[in-house]
Amino acid sequence: MNALHEVRVVRPATIDEAARALAENGAQALAGGTDLLPNLRRGLGAPRALVDLTAVDGLGSLTVQADGSLRAGAAVTLATLAADAAVRAGWPALAVAAGLVAGPTHREAATLGGNLCQDTRCVFYNQSEWWRAGNGYCLKYLGSQCHVVVKSDRCYATYHGDVAPALIVLDAVAEVAGPGGPRTLPLAALFVEDGAQRLALQPGEWLTAVLVPPAAGWRADYAKARVRDAVDFALAGAAVALRRDRNRDGDRLAGLRVAITGTNSAPLAVATAGLVGRAWNADAAAALAQSVQASANVLATTVAPVKYRRRMLQALVRRLVDELWARG
Ligand SMILES: Cc1cc2nc3c(=O)[nH]c(=O)nc-3n(C[C@H](O)[C@H](O)[C@H](O)COP(=O)(O)OP(=O)(O)OC[C@H]3O[C@@H](n4cnc5c(N)ncnc54)[C@H](O)[C@@H]3O)c2cc1C
Repeated sequence: MNALHEVRVVRPATIDEAARALAENGAQALAGGTDLLPNLRRGLGAPRALVDLTAVDGLGSLTVQADGSLRAGAAVTLATLAADAAVRAGWPALAVAAGLVAGPTHREAATLGGNLCQDTRCVFYNQSEWWRAGNGYCLKYLGSQCHVVVKSDRCYATYHGDVAPALIVLDAVAEVAGPGGPRTLPLAALFVEDGAQRLALQPGEWLTAVLVPPAAGWRADYAKARVRDAVDFALAGAAVALRRDRNRDGDRLAGLRVAITGTNSAPLAVATAGLVGRAWNADAAAALAQSVQASANVLATTVAPVKYRRRMLQALVRRLVDELWARG
């Protein structure tokens, strides 16, 4: 890795100060730095200013609100999310997902905002400058061709974040600040399926918090497959939220949400509407597997084989639904 390029670092104390600093041309948010700094040291990007969000007043707060929802500031660390008693009790899937990111020392510094907004990854992108130069760079950065899908007009780098799928199935909302004022959007709408663009944020916009509604009868969990359990990105990951309705008239799925990561350029919700109202059995499992297959677009963006990642994704989804149904 190279030394970091010459860059100005600003440390705002309030949301307004942060918003002004991030509205400047060439400014980029810096949170825990566990994703951004290694990338910059590989020459992947050259922001003029880094806006350190970790000292912004209120951004590190985690509160259960009067209506029972959770409000997590963008600078809450993943270690806090994983260990917090209220999160573990009310939204265990979120605690599980946060606790499965990277390794323990990363999670002490890594933040919720940085995890959600992390860069997409690819074997042709997460390389040293000389390696990428030797391959003529790539469509994601400095080059004109995607080496994964040759002749494609968009970048297919993959989103590997763990926390986003958990928040999608928990029906979370993202709170964003920017030159146009604050706004909220469903968590899934924060992402675009383009490995280069990756986020649906306007210039100068940034994530301030995430709101998660009370669980209200839903049970949820998250699981991932990775090379080394101690520290790796998901080769495939899945979150499932489920409501089971058991009464005299039958035993059915009253609600089912599935979201995937590590497979596409964005974390994605899988279509499940056709399964709601049905029992969870072999036919339903086959229908869900088809739906997962239709959403996932696993390509050769990691060193692990495509076929393995596809099969692991199916296995993770099936296991999560089986377990949540049994617990229901
Ligand atoms: C060895 C290793 C293993 C890893 N394993 C995993 C893994 O298993 N799972 C996983 O999900 N990640 C993994 N990561 C990536 C990274 O550590 C985590 O995603 C981490 O949560 C990033 O958070 P951060 O606060 O450090 O973000 P930063 O590195 O500070 O920022 C990441 C990106 O988000 C942007 N950003 C930060 N905060 C905001 C905000 N509030 N609004 C808008 N944009 C913002 C930054 O500009 C940057 O582009 C790994 C990294 C390493 C080095």
